[in-house]
Amino acid sequence: MVDLKAQYLKIKEEVDKAVLDCFELSSHINGPAVDKFAGELAEYLDTKHVIPCANGTDALQIAMMALGLKRGDEVIVPTFTYVATAEVIALLGLKPVMVDVDPDTFMLNLQQVVSKIGPRTKAVVPVHLYGQCAGMEELMDIARQHNLFVIEDTAQAIGSRYTFSDGSVKAAGTIGHVGCTSFFPSKNLGCFGDGGAIFTEDDTLAEKMRMIANHGQKKKYYHDVVGVNSRLDTIQAAILRIKLQRLDEYAEARNKVAGFYDSSFSNIRELVTPVRSASSSHVFHQYTIKVKNGKRNELKDFLASRNIPSMIYYPLPLNEQKAYATAELSPGSFPVAETLCKEVLSLPIHTEMSEEQLEYIAESVKQFFDK
Ligand SMILES: *Cc1c(COP(=O)(O)O)cnc(C)c1O
Repeated sequence: MVDLKAQYLKIKEEVDKAVLDCFELSSHINGPAVDKFAGELAEYLDTKHVIPCANGTDALQIAMMALGLKRGDEVIVPTFTYVATAEVIALLGLKPVMVDVDPDTFMLNLQQVVSKIGPRTKAVVPVHLYGQCAGMEELMDIARQHNLFVIEDTAQAIGSRYTFSDGSVKAAGTIGHVGCTSFFPSKNLGCFGDGGAIFTEDDTLAEKMRMIANHGQKKKYYHDVVGVNSRLDTIQAAILRIKLQRLDEYAEARNKVAGFYDSSFSNIRELVTPVRSASSSHVFHQYTIKVKNGKRNELKDFLASRNIPSMIYYPLPLNEQKAYATAELSPGSFPVAETLCKEVLSLPIHTEMSEEQLEYIAESVKQFFDK
């Protein structure tokens, strides 16, 4: 699905030197690269505060902790997403309230968001799934009307840009009150281990999140709030500084792959290629097709028999996961998400794909449907 080794080899000299410099300096925790990376990422995203942390799940948790939500408060999340989004909500004693998604863009359904808002609803988490932004302009209007916090989960969409109807453009993760991302190795901006970051324009919130990520302290050994220990390692920050410089180039490479797949598959009736949102650029964290007529698993097996990996993101919606299923949400509550779980298939997409690889994959997919 990804080729992290080939990507590394292209920047090996720079990365090796940066890592060895870290060893020489031996400032392994909060070394100078961490602040430098945070500053560079803030500039890239055109946002005020970037707070590095240990992973994307922590980023979401720290954001939730900083917003002053009380036990039992409700947070709206799409049911078709990675589990981390709902997990931290449940961990903090908050209630994840699920909504269905749009069948074309895979993003949370905004009418359902409105219909699920109640007296205890305090926040909503749009997930910019697969690499493009959810309908942020409309969502921000809804949030303003109902006094909700918006926490963007941009783990899959860093570098994507959203265009508002007045023509202004903002980076994914800088539109809501807080943005959360992950630097897991396979993400578009991946480090060589775990990493994450939180973005905000709000000075007070930024200070609170910095404290929470650092055991609730501003001054060493004086703990004002209950916090966690969540840091980005110096070595990871040093590697991320190098990869950030290439993030747009990486997105371009991914878009080329997506364009190739799009045109290769345009005549296959039982295969639906990804729909591009009119208001967001796509960074193609995943290239996810929909396979109709119950043929998804068969296609997956066929590709596997030809040594082509493919993945199902995700096989079950949150409301059908044992940990999150509740009596009020029976199967059938979210027909779109449930159908997607049976139809979606993500094909290999990364920054180092060769023409031969692409042609082999495209030919194999075509062959399957020609059978
Ligand atoms: C990867 C991912 C996360 C979690 O990131 P980690 O760094 O693995 O904790 C959260 N949300 C989404 C949508 C993701 O894809």
